[in-house]
Amino acid sequence: MSPSKLSSPMTSRAPPLEVTRIIRDVGGNAYLEGSDGAVSAAGLNGVLALAIAAAPTGITVADPSLPDCPLVFINPAFTQLTGYPPEEVLGRNCRFLQGRGTEKESIRTLRLAIAAGKPITLEFTNHRKDGRRFVNELRMAPVLDEQGQLVAYIGIQHDVTARKKAEREATKARRAAERANQEKSDFLAFMSHEVRTPLHGVMGTLALLLDTALDAEQRAYAETAQRCGATLLHTVNELLDLSRIEAGKLGIHADPFSLADIVKDVLDLLAPAAAEKGIELSASLDHLLPGQLIGDPSRIRQVLINLVDNAVKFTHRGSVELRIAALPDGHVGFAVTDTGIGIPPRLRASLFTRFAQADPAGEQIGSGLGLAICKRLVALMGGQIAVDSTQGRGSTFFFDLPLAHVPESGTPPPRIAPRPVLVQPLAGAHGRILLAEDGKANQLVAAAILRKAGYTVELARDGAEAAAAAESSDYDLILMDIRMPLMDGYAATRAIRAVPGPRGRVPIIAMTASVMPGDSERCTAAGMDGHLPKPLGKAELLAAVQRVLDARPRRPRVAIPEAEPGATAPLLDRETLEELRAAVGPGRLPRLISVFTAETKERVRRMHALTDPHRIEDEAHSLKAAAATFGATALRDAARALEAACQSGDPAGWRRILDILPGLADRSIAAFPQPRNEARAKQERDQKGR
Ligand code: ADP
Repeated sequence: MSPSKLSSPMTSRAPPLEVTRIIRDVGGNAYLEGSDGAVSAAGLNGVLALAIAAAPTGITVADPSLPDCPLVFINPAFTQLTGYPPEEVLGRNCRFLQGRGTEKESIRTLRLAIAAGKPITLEFTNHRKDGRRFVNELRMAPVLDEQGQLVAYIGIQHDVTARKKAEREATKARRAAERANQEKSDFLAFMSHEVRTPLHGVMGTLALLLDTALDAEQRAYAETAQRCGATLLHTVNELLDLSRIEAGKLGIHADPFSLADIVKDVLDLLAPAAAEKGIELSASLDHLLPGQLIGDPSRIRQVLINLVDNAVKFTHRGSVELRIAALPDGHVGFAVTDTGIGIPPRLRASLFTRFAQADPAGEQIGSGLGLAICKRLVALMGGQIAVDSTQGRGSTFFFDLPLAHVPESGTPPPRIAPRPVLVQPLAGAHGRILLAEDGKANQLVAAAILRKAGYTVELARDGAEAAAAAESSDYDLILMDIRMPLMDGYAATRAIRAVPGPRGRVPIIAMTASVMPGDSERCTAAGMDGHLPKPLGKAELLAAVQRVLDARPRRPRVAIPEAEPGATAPLLDRETLEELRAAVGPGRLPRLISVFTAETKERVRRMHALTDPHRIEDEAHSLKAAAATFGATALRDAARALEAACQSGDPAGWRRILDILPGLADRSIAAFPQPRNEARAKQERDQKGR
């Protein structure tokens, strides 16, 4: 094809003729009507040529049969886009648009596509005639004739500079939001320690003060201070709860419990306030409900206390009643009915959002967070909450929860699996995982994600190491890279499957960057239980691991080690600590360690004063998660054993662990780098980095 064949009929036409309409006659001939009303005849080629001339998109044609594949056609929009008129362009290869800042990688990709005769779309930096740069989104497509011979390249070009800029800004904004979120987490750690600890001190001291001989006036002042302190503590706790829920960090337990006990707790707590106001407070429990259910008793108690507390607060006469009944769909229904002031329609719509409050006039006002927390907690537990209210007559708050029954045999069934919304791995997940991966970066990332979630991770650098480790130790799961030196993942899996006994049956998940059809069949044929595509996303990795670990047969519930728990594990896993240092950013770790230290000391002290196994379990659970985050491995194991002892109702077991906990906590804390050592370690790191 010669340039004249392609270029002359199009570039010689005087564009742009503004075509307002294309008219066809009965014979199929086309006529173009211009904006001036003139109609001219045009064949189909003519129509297409005009359409191309009128297109707002840069269109070019290059001829590969000529030396250096020059441009043989451009439309006016190309001239507008680049500033080059046809006479400066035709006959030249379009690389004149490239220059400083043009991405080498894009040019390489473009050349490869051309060599392979494949269409391609890419974005790269081009230059206008006046030197200004723009981001060109180029779609290049080869044109073949009937014999399949390449006759031309068509290029479609757009200026996407503005879009790229917007994308860059969106990324910047997202990063800023992520930073802000991190700061929020730091703030939470700060709040929970720096605000709550002294506040507990204030409350404790006020309680001591009220135990001394005070005159009436002094007592009134101290009691007022105590009331205000309690309100403040309540608000701080609510804020923390809400933030933890919003950050997805609040886990819901699934334990056997008695509804009657919860109802009793709620009545005991709120009866004094109701009596003081002369309100009747009562509760009824459907006799169809079993004595024991499975759920999260402390969160159910929290929701009920909130609703009954509100009901008492906003009722001046009459009664507040709590009813709990079995619902036909198997859920348990809760209703709190009062004969109070009711809720104005204006507030009802926003009642369950944060900071919703009626006019404070005459009412004792709270933070406006309580119902927002109730709604989220009920949703996390799998239910829904709603309200029905008539102003001046009273309100009823309802919610329902899917709570499994404990069979009448009296032995609690295994913990039920949480609902999907809860499946996000809770800090404190546990299981021993062997990660077989030779790529250092992938190894670091996967290990960090898993360790943060609470798993114990051991590493193997190749298939042979993995097979040897799997033969000599018990793992709950092996994550197996496929391509590894010495022995690949398939061979390693076959070797493991040949090991007799349970070690040969350990679940194995393949990790593979290839997405070739047949991969999954090959993995299954080698004896693997599933496969994960690389790069590994955090959510997918944790979900896959959790799926496998949830499906494994449960170990006996009483998992209290005979030896001192934590005695075999190291006090401090430096690798985890270094990962934490990298994750929180420069300079932050010492401060976080000091918060963890103070919080742990306070928590251990608090745990010693507790007698309720549920509360000890809660504290042990939090301690386990925090210790895992900081790499305090022995402390984490002890907390885990304590949690197990509480769950299995073994008072001797939990007391034994509680006894060793203060000493172990002190030794674990002492194992952290001290501030002075930290400075030296930093210096060493800097020197190494240089
Ligand atoms: P607060 O801590 O302010 O009580 P909540 O979220 O629990 O926050 O309640 C929000 C608002 O909803 C309250 O300030 C009140 O105006 C209204 N409210 C809640 N429960 C009742 C009720 N039983 N009767 C009347 N008004 C209520």
